Amino acid sequence: MLISEDIKLDYSDVLIRPKRSILTSRYDVDMTRTHKFVHSKKEWTGVPIMASNMDTVGTPEMYKVLSEHQIITCPARHYLKNDPTAFSSNSQDQHICMMGGLDDINVLKTNAVMYGFIGIDVANGYTISVIDGVKELREKCPDATIVVGNVVTADMTQELILAGADIVKIGVGPGSVCTTRTKTGIGYPQLSAVMECADAAHGLNAHIIADGGCTTSGDIVKAFAAGADFVMIGGMLAGHDECDGKVVEGKMTFYGMASETAMSRHNLPHREYRGVEGKTVEVPYRGGVNDTIIDILSGIRSACTYVGAKRLKSLSKCATFVRVNNIINTVYGNA
Ligand code: 5GP
Repeated sequence: MLISEDIKLDYSDVLIRPKRSILTSRYDVDMTRTHKFVHSKKEWTGVPIMASNMDTVGTPEMYKVLSEHQIITCPARHYLKNDPTAFSSNSQDQHICMMGGLDDINVLKTNAVMYGFIGIDVANGYTISVIDGVKELREKCPDATIVVGNVVTADMTQELILAGADIVKIGVGPGSVCTTRTKTGIGYPQLSAVMECADAAHGLNAHIIADGGCTTSGDIVKAFAAGADFVMIGGMLAGHDECDGKVVEGKMTFYGMASETAMSRHNLPHREYRGVEGKTVEVPYRGGVNDTIIDILSGIRSACTYVGAKRLKSLSKCATFVRVNNIINTVYGNA
């Protein structure tokens, strides 16, 4: 048994220090990034935020609004098998990242041509079958930009990149409807995970997605400042018109993809043997998602002006974190 004495941090453990800046307006900030991917050799330009591939959030209606802002939507997984063209049938749509499980490699290959990104998304990216799965997907789709996750450590980030991933998804336990930390005791503070894995990936010219744990635009800013190339959000997009679900008494249901709700909905096999590591919550109804997106982007732009970053790309170079000791309680309450 070992104890790592290094202090690891979450988004709520830091703030970003303001700096002298010559930027006068937040609208001078360039919010787009251009990434060139290490294996696919493809180039992508857009606003590097992703809607999570959760049932309630990864919907065609969400895609319609987000793609207008050059933001990526990850379709909920059931679309891959049941309705792969529900979002768009454009060749390599740059605003879609379609991910499946290890059983979905062939269906991903069949449909890969439609999506800007494809990937393998499992709760635990540490198993040998994930590495084998990435190798197989890379062999079958040599030109695709491939996302794989989730992990939280530098060694595994590098291993997945060497196996063929262009982008590694980072996060075990930070999600707003995730109960992995309380059920299993497993996890890693998300800010530190992002910093360490970004460093490891960038050393190999690859990229990372900071996945989960953002409850405010300030958290998204901290993820970018920590080195994230993309930030994935679920709970922040819940409760909108574009979500899958009904408004009942001013609330909408939002649930984890490993929750009892998701398992029952998709009739997943062997339910009794699977750990339920997600929960179901009611979130306030918030109207159309467009206003929320404008608000999020405005928060990020403002952060860039506070630290003198003319482009989102420069944010991580311009930002200095200071440690704080307050715990910010979230609307949903992290596990
Ligand atoms: P949020 O932005 O809501 O904090 O986090 C979204 C992320 O939580 C998703 O992209 C996914 O990685 C993770 N997630 C979604 N559902 C579940 C679940 O049921 N269990 C766990 N452990 N993580 C989940």
